Amino acid sequence: MSNIQMVDVRGQYLHIKNEVDAAIQEVIDSCAFINGPKVKSFQANLESYLDVNCVIPCANGTDALQIALMALDLNVGDEVIVPAFTYVATAEVIALLGLTPIMVDVDPDTFNVTADIVRSALTENTKVVVPVHLFGQVTGEMDEIMDLAKAHNFYVIEDNAQAIGANYKHKNGKTLKSGTIGHIGCTSFYPSKNLGCYGDGGAIYTNDEQLGINLRKIANHGQAKKYHHDVIGCNSRLDAIQAAVLDVKLKRLDQYCEAREKAATYYDHNLSGIDGLSTPVREKKSSHVFHQYTLKEKSGKRDTLKEYLKEKGIPSMVYYPVPLYNQEAFRHYAPGIELVATEQLCKEVISLPIHTEMNYEMQDIIIEAVKSFYS
Ligand SMILES: *Cc1c(COP(=O)(O)O)cnc(C)c1O
Repeated sequence: MSNIQMVDVRGQYLHIKNEVDAAIQEVIDSCAFINGPKVKSFQANLESYLDVNCVIPCANGTDALQIALMALDLNVGDEVIVPAFTYVATAEVIALLGLTPIMVDVDPDTFNVTADIVRSALTENTKVVVPVHLFGQVTGEMDEIMDLAKAHNFYVIEDNAQAIGANYKHKNGKTLKSGTIGHIGCTSFYPSKNLGCYGDGGAIYTNDEQLGINLRKIANHGQAKKYHHDVIGCNSRLDAIQAAVLDVKLKRLDQYCEAREKAATYYDHNLSGIDGLSTPVREKKSSHVFHQYTLKEKSGKRDTLKEYLKEKGIPSMVYYPVPLYNQEAFRHYAPGIELVATEQLCKEVISLPIHTEMNYEMQDIIIEAVKSFYS
């Protein structure tokens, strides 16, 4: 059996063990476990990496999305547009706050929403759109979606849990980091994410100083001044040990993105041209940081391929097998809808192992196995 893994958190740790261990030890020695200097320094370093005014560290990516929505002064029944082809967290927080998730389709090639898809779902109750930068690339039509936001007066929250580090060519000529194009960006530091800590973690970011103040307040029990609670908030903190780990890894994020991109290019090279299989399509205005390397199996044999790889000791994953609107918890929001691309993708997608410790020998084993399935 091969010992190939979907992600190799441990292998990556071994390269930075000394630095990580020392940083964790420093937190323990200082006993500044909550909101200590490590959290402050990580916040500042992430602000400068993203070139954004305010970073608010929080407990996880789901909280980040929830706090972002809480900061926007919404009312029960307001509509939030969200792709149906995403991780549940994106829609869950909308429902949890009594808002109405409007589940829309995605582009079948890039897996992201387009401006046309958003436009056709707009109503007078649309208050927020949440583009999800799926699998590691920024929603290509962010510029057009921001134009729509201006014209129709809604907010844009980027679900950037999978795309941290990606670059977007903005229409103003500048290159912006993913998550800093909309009004608010949200990230997860779940261990297997591209910038992962060793537990749970997340962050919210914005260039709008006033929004930044509100977000920070909401993440901290609705208080700006201790024991003075202006609004209903929650308790969502990044703990200092996780911040210490993240500070070590943030310095290497670009290098990690490059390693993933290199592995993806090698897959592309060797897997394109197989009848029945399509390799990932790149957004034109975004770089791709390949949180996942996701193929489409077009001949109806996706599950057989997955089983075949498993027998050879090669893991693969299906992100995501069920459209959001077919999940028991979400069915009543849009009874009977069927979105063409979402339906198709749930049947066709299969993600291969990709991580920072990948090498060509490992990839050759995977590539050979995939090829032999089709021969
Ligand atoms: C991981 C993820 C989240 C949630 O992050 P957690 O830290 O697990 O709460 C939200 N949206 C997307 C697209 C994700 O991949």
